[in-house]
Amino acid sequence: MLRNPGRIDLDSIADPLLTDGNVLLKVRMVGFCGSDLNSFRGLNPLVTYPRILGHEVSATVVEDRGTDSPLKAGTNVAVSPYTSCGACPSCRRGRRNACQFNQTLGVQRDGALTEFIALPREKLYPANLTLKELCLVEPLTVGFHAVARGRVTDRDTVAVWGCGGVGLGVVAAASSRGARTICIDVDEEKLELARIAGAKVTVNSKREALHERLLEITGGRGPDVAIEAIGTAATFRAAVEEVAFTGRVVYIGYAKEPVSYETRLFVQKELDVLGSRNAQPEDFGAVIKFLESGMFPVDHAISLTVPLEQAGDALRSWSDDPARFKKIMVCVS
Ligand SMILES: [Zn+2]
Ligand SMILES: [Zn+2]
Repeated sequence: MLRNPGRIDLDSIADPLLTDGNVLLKVRMVGFCGSDLNSFRGLNPLVTYPRILGHEVSATVVEDRGTDSPLKAGTNVAVSPYTSCGACPSCRRGRRNACQFNQTLGVQRDGALTEFIALPREKLYPANLTLKELCLVEPLTVGFHAVARGRVTDRDTVAVWGCGGVGLGVVAAASSRGARTICIDVDEEKLELARIAGAKVTVNSKREALHERLLEITGGRGPDVAIEAIGTAATFRAAVEEVAFTGRVVYIGYAKEPVSYETRLFVQKELDVLGSRNAQPEDFGAVIKFLESGMFPVDHAISLTVPLEQAGDALRSWSDDPARFKKIMVCVS
């Protein structure tokens, strides 16, 4: 349990209540991403303390009392960690991923870093995948959703800013749609991983002149789709500046400060500027199909695997040196 920023301890909590609408699950693995690191460091504005972390989850069904298509005990599942109210404008439009009142496991409500959890059947995705792969489903869906928002096709060249966990999902999704992907980052290791995950071209924007490189790669036009997965003012602006005329810009990163724009470019280029948040059920389906194909470099994407007792220490060493890890997985049982 994360008591306060920087303070993690192990605690006993009551077993979850199994109701008719819920499925009792034994938690197997939990993944940590940058947002857990931010919660640990007190830099995640959405989290309150104390909080049990854990929104990237693989679990095994213990009991499902639901009447229609109950899951068999022993079935391994991936988990969608979001809630949706059903009544807000997003929910009414069928876009529950962007529910106005969403509560994510491990952020606005207690997460899965515990022995047992109970969740509604519709949040569970059984799949023929390993426990590690099931744990990677949720982080990959975020990138898959952004690519769906950008309506990426095999005729597109897609530029991706940021090759962390989210950016990798973008690369995987765009490549699996047959698009050509250009990955932009300042970290050589992340760029290498992006190439393994399917990026055709990588640009180290610390060492290379990004604008010139993008023009060179795209025959002077700029990328058809620009996807921002970092959240800085500079990369927010770069996406609009570099994208081709009549292109699509998709934002996944959360900027921590207001961003000033040359808004003329929105009009002059007649851009589609889109936000992308969390993921829809069809994105979960697409990621599972993609992982089942075995095309994703699962072991390259995970930096460290630790037992539950070492979860706190792992977050502490990540916090001391954020560049050291990409993704940490915790084996719960
Ligand atoms: Zn995450
Ligand atoms: Zn809602």
